[in-house]
Parts: sequence; structure tokens; C-alpha cells
Amino acid sequence: MKALVKNKAEAGLELCEVPEPEIGSRDVLIRVEKTGVCGTDLHIYNWDTWAQSAVKVPNVIGHEFVGRIVELGRDVTDFKVGDLVSGEGHLVCGRCRNCMAGRRHLCRETRGVGVNHPGCFAEYIALPVSNLWLHRPDVDPDVAAIFDPFGNAVHTALQFPCLGEDVLVTGAGPIGIMAAAVCRHAGARRVVITDVNPYRLDLARRLGIEHAIDVRSRSLPEVQKELGMKEGFDVGLEMSGNPRAFQDMIANMNHGGKIAMLGIPSGPMGIDWNKVIFNMLTIKGVYGREMYETWYMMSALLVGGLNIEPVITHRLGYQEFEKAFEVMNAGESGKVVLDWTV
Ligand code: NAD
Ligand code: ZN
Repeated sequence: MKALVKNKAEAGLELCEVPEPEIGSRDVLIRVEKTGVCGTDLHIYNWDTWAQSAVKVPNVIGHEFVGRIVELGRDVTDFKVGDLVSGEGHLVCGRCRNCMAGRRHLCRETRGVGVNHPGCFAEYIALPVSNLWLHRPDVDPDVAAIFDPFGNAVHTALQFPCLGEDVLVTGAGPIGIMAAAVCRHAGARRVVITDVNPYRLDLARRLGIEHAIDVRSRSLPEVQKELGMKEGFDVGLEMSGNPRAFQDMIANMNHGGKIAMLGIPSGPMGIDWNKVIFNMLTIKGVYGREMYETWYMMSALLVGGLNIEPVITHRLGYQEFEKAFEVMNAGESGKVVLDWTV
């Protein structure tokens, strides 16, 4: 089968012919139809410091996909051939304390599909049945392909109640934009999103986030004043990984404000702990998605009218993968979806 493979410990990816994956008794084989390209894939493509430490080579990369089941393992009874599914990208151990308690998203031994386990940038992927999400038959397949990052957005946005609250999202990448859209849908009073990239801020506006702010030209205290805010943001979602953005967020929260952090900084970062202490802030780290509460919530939000489809800005054939990484490296994209059926 065709697959995008990281063959060597260096920048780039190769489109290769590799053997189809084999399945165990509790696995399924899926014909991949569409895949989303994640920032993680870009790190792997560029072979930065994180990728060098985390990725095993050679490996098929990619973890965001939708496809149809073509073969069932011997002991799989609750899915059938033809089912439209996506895969949870974290494989959990099933044996640690959290797994045993049903808190699988807190597993200490997770492996990452497309990182240190074979990924989905291929015509076929094999996954344990416990990692499957069955889609509603009428789901938009392109949106289904990006359930994984949509899940990061939903999981982060749901960390703290936002009904009637003023929410600050730092970083208008695809995940920040989807999280901002979720907060609006969930009844936040005001949702402000920041970035330093005009393309991304325009995209945020296209998804209905009217207060999309370029922090190079307007400060958050100015924005608060313009919006008639007096006390600061109630909820913060850090979605940039940028230390400056996080420091600005901390400085603009109301007393008792709550911050969920999804953005991954490139190294240790300093903050003014006096603000955290005297302003009594809560800061919570967020990783992945809840298995499978977040997935239920995503489906429910879409049925309830949330539309995240405009965050997809590029649809390309898998052969055009170089172009996908090019637009992503230039910051001139929302989500990029690759079609594996062309
Ligand atoms: P992305 O890199 O596309 O978006 C980050 C955005 O932050 C960019 O648009 C960038 O211009 C913006 N930014 C840079 N400096 C800024 C500043 N000073 N103020 C405001 N914005 C600034 O990433 P994404 O795919 O949308 O993901 C968001 C973040 O979440 C990334 O850091 C990613 O690594 C991380 N992530 C975490 C998890 C997790 O499980 N914790 C999962 C997926 C992604
Ligand atoms: Zn575990």
C-alpha cells in the first residue's frame, strides 16, 4: 500500500510502498479515506528537537483520519465491515492505576499513533477496536477526518464552565479557532482570540469569532476597555505555546480566573507567579481527549448546530503532501485535509 513514511532521522517524508498492516484478534483494518495534517506531523516533517526525541524511525506518520472498516479481528463483535470510523490517536496501556479506574485519558504509558506506533497517512491502518469512534452516517467526512484536533479543542473548552463568561483564547491556529467556536456555541458572553498572523485571525472571523485581535498592534488591556470589560477574563484557553501569549493571559485574568493550557511551549517558560498567587488563578494542563466523553460531546455539538467546517482551508490529494507542509510552514492554512481515495 501507499504510505507517507519517515524513513530517516532527518527533515522530509517519503511516499513509499509498504506492506499492509496485519491485524490481531481484537483489531480492525480500516481503509483510510481522508486524513487531517496536524502540527505534530509538521514537527515530524521538519524534524525539530521534539520530533528527534519522540519519533521512532522508520514509521508511517499521521493520526487524524476517517475511513471504513474492511476487516475485523476474530474477537471483534461490535463493529461491522463498512462502518465509518475515526481513531483515538492515543493507545493506552489498560493496566496502570488510571486505566484500571476508567480514566484512560490519564494513562501514564500512552503510545501515539503516527509517532511511536504506525500511523494513518496510508491507504490502510490497523487499530485496536477499543480505539475506534463510530461516526453518525450523515457526518461530513472532511469534518470526521479532523475529530482528533476538534477533540483537543472541545476537551480544552470544556475544562471550565464558560456560559456567560468572558473567554480569552491565545493562538488562532486551527485548534484555538475551533475552541473559540465551541465557547461561543456554549454561551460565553465574549470570546476574544489573539494571534500574530493576519491569515489566521481572518479565518477566526470566518468562523464567527468577531473579536480576533492581532496582539502586535493592540494590547489586551486596550481590548478589554473597548469591550467594556472591567475586571478581566474569567476563562483562558492557551492554544499558542508562546510564552509571551501565556504571560499576557495571566496578566489579563480576573481574580479567580481559570486557565486551561493545551499549547505546547518549545521549552521551559517563566511566568510571574505572584499574579497566579495573589489573583488566585487556576492553571490546568490539558492533553489529548477524554476517551470517549469528548468524542460523544463532539458528535453532540455538531448535531446541535456547531459548524467547524470552515476551519478546513485546503483539500489535497495525498500525492500533494509536500504542498500541505508548505502552506502549513508558511502559516497560510487552517486545517489541511488529504484525500487517500484519489
Ligand atoms: P498552530 O501552531 O497552528 O497555532 C498556534 C498559533 O499561535 C499560530 O497561529 C501562531 O501564529 C500563534 N501565536 C504565536 N505567537 C503568538 C502570540 N504571542 N499570541 C497569540 N498567538 C500566537 O497550532 P494548533 O494546531 O492550532 O495547536 C495549538 C497548540 O496546541 C500548539 O502549541 C500545539 O502544539 C498544541 N497541541 C497540544 C495538544 C495537547 O494534547 N496538549 C494537542 C494538539 C496540539
Ligand atoms: Zn494506562
